[in-house]
Amino acid sequence: MIIAAVVGGLVVIGVGLFVVMRSRSGTGASPGGFPSASGGALATAAPPAAKQASPWQRQLKEAQRRDGFDWEYESAPARALVNQLLAQAAPLFGNAHVKERPDDGHIELRGTYGGAPIRFAIWMSFGTFWAIEMQCDNRLGEIEIERDHEKIPTKEDPQDPWSKDETRRIFLARGIFAEGRYDVEEKIAIWSKVPAATQAMLLEQMEALDARRLNARSDVSLSVRPGLRDLDDPIAYMQSCARVLDELKNAIAQGDRDPTAFPKVQIRGNVVINGVPVEAGALGQAASVPTAPPRTCKYCSSIFLLAVDKSACPNCGASATT
Ligand SMILES: [Zn+2]
Repeated sequence: MIIAAVVGGLVVIGVGLFVVMRSRSGTGASPGGFPSASGGALATAAPPAAKQASPWQRQLKEAQRRDGFDWEYESAPARALVNQLLAQAAPLFGNAHVKERPDDGHIELRGTYGGAPIRFAIWMSFGTFWAIEMQCDNRLGEIEIERDHEKIPTKEDPQDPWSKDETRRIFLARGIFAEGRYDVEEKIAIWSKVPAATQAMLLEQMEALDARRLNARSDVSLSVRPGLRDLDDPIAYMQSCARVLDELKNAIAQGDRDPTAFPKVQIRGNVVINGVPVEAGALGQAASVPTAPPRTCKYCSSIFLLAVDKSACPNCGASATT
C-alpha cells in the first residue's frame, strides 16, 4: 500500500490508490474455513429415492452392495468402480489413460483438453476429486479466487475482540472473493486483467459447480466440493470443470494485453510518499490496481468489485449506486 502525503500541493489520483478496510469475519465459519457437509445448492446432487436414479447413481449403488466396498484405496470394488468411470470418461479427454497411484491413494485420469494436458485425481479415501488440473502458459500472474458462502460478512459483535478478522476479502460475486492479509490488492489487480466476459463465466461456473477455489499458477486448477456420490453425472461434471480451466488457461496465456489501459496516477504539486519526494508522473507504473476501486457495502460491510453489468452488492443485493 502506498501512502501519499501532500505537502502544499494537489494530488490527483485518477483511478488509482485505494484503501481497503478490513472485512469482518462471518460467525458461521468452521475451523479451517471449510463449510461442513456437501453444502451449496447443487443441481446435480443425488436425487431423492422417489426420483429415477441416474445411470451413475445406479452403478454406484450396485457397487456399494458388493462385499468389501468402502471408500479407501485398499477396497478392490471401489477401485474397480472408479477405474470403470474414468475409462468411460477417457475418450472425452484426448488420448486419456487411467493411472493408479497407490502411494497417494489416488486414481487419476490423465489426458488432454483444448490441446493442454489435464488430470483428474480421485482421492479414494473419500471418493472426491483430489485434483483437477490443467497445464498452462501463465503470462499474466498468480490468480486465486475462493468461494465460501460462510465468509459473507455478517454484523460483528463490537464487544467481541475475536470477531475481528485480519484477512481482507474483496468480493467478486456472492460468496466468491479474493483474500489475503497483505496481498489482496495484487490478486485483484491480476484478476482485473482477465477479460470481463471470461470473469463472468468463471464466477458463474464456480457457483454452478460448487467449487471451493480457482487457481492459476504454473498450472490452472479447480478445487471442488462434490464427491462422486453427490453427482448424477460425474463425467458431465468433469467436462464442465475442463471448460472452466480451458477458459482460464486461454485468458492468462494472453498476458497483459493492454498495459497502457492500466490506471495512471497523476501527480501535481509537491508530493512525498513514505518520506521520499516524488516527481510528477513517476507513479504511472506503480499503480497496479484494478480499473475501479472496490466499494464497501453500507449494509453488510462487504468489500466488493462492481462488475460492469451489475449495480448491487453481490452478497446482500443492496444497491451500490447510493
Ligand atoms: Zn452488502
